[in-house]
Amino acid sequence: MAVNIEVYKEIEQELSAANVTLVAVSKTKPVEDIMELYEMGQRDFGENYVQELVDKAAQLPKDIRWHFIGHLQRNKVKYIASFVHLVHGVDSFKLLEEINKQGQKENRIINCLLQVHIAKEETKFGFNEEELNSVLENINQHRQRNQLQHVNVQGLMGMASFTDDVEVVRGEFSQLNAIFHQLKTNDHRLHTLSMGMSGDYKIAMQKGSSMVRIGSLLFGQREKKH
Ligand SMILES: *Cc1c(COP(=O)(O)O)cnc(C)c1O
Repeated sequence: MAVNIEVYKEIEQELSAANVTLVAVSKTKPVEDIMELYEMGQRDFGENYVQELVDKAAQLPKDIRWHFIGHLQRNKVKYIASFVHLVHGVDSFKLLEEINKQGQKENRIINCLLQVHIAKEETKFGFNEEELNSVLENINQHRQRNQLQHVNVQGLMGMASFTDDVEVVRGEFSQLNAIFHQLKTNDHRLHTLSMGMSGDYKIAMQKGSSMVRIGSLLFGQREKKH
C-alpha cells in the first residue's frame, strides 16, 4: 500500500489540534489512493494539473473539496470553475479576472489565494510585496464598483526555497506571515495562509500557517519530479 495511513493519522491529529487545515496533495497518484484517505475522513485534496483534476473529480465523491495548487493558465480556468473549492496560486490580476468571469458563468463565488514570491529561487511564481499591495488595492477598487463579485480572495499562499537550510525556510515563512498579518488588519476577508509542504510544514506551522499542502509524506514519493 502506497498510502501511509499511520503517518496520515499522526499529521491529521497534529494539525487539527493546531486548527490547521490539511490539504492532501494527490497529484500523479491514483484515485484509489485518494479514496483510502477519503475513507479516513479526509475531504481536502490538492492537484496541480487541470486535466488530471477534471478526470479525478469526475470519478470521486462530490463532497471532496478540490484545491488547485499548481500554476493555473487562464485558458484552463473554465474546466475547473464549476467545482474547484480553492485556487491557491493566483499570480496575476488577469488570472483573477478570468476566474471571476468563469465564476459568473457558473453562478458561483470561487475562493482564491494570492501567491507571494518568498523564495530566493527565480523559478517560483508569485507577487513580490509591492505587487501584492497594488493588486489588493486594485481588487478593492473593483469591489467598490461591485465588480469581481465572483471571486473571494481569502488569503495568501507561498513556497519557501527548496533548501536544507532551516534558517532560510524559517526566515521566508516569517516574512510571509508578517505580510499576511499586516494585510489582515485592514482586510478581514483574509483568513487563510497556505504555507508548508512535506519537508517544511512543521516550520510553517510555527510561523503561523493555517493550511498546509502535504503530498509525499502521505502518498509516498512521486514518480516524476514536479
Ligand atoms: C507538489 C506540491 C506540494 C506537495 O509537495 P510534497 O513535498 O510532496 O508534500 C505542495 N504544494 C505545491 C504547490 C505543490 O506543487
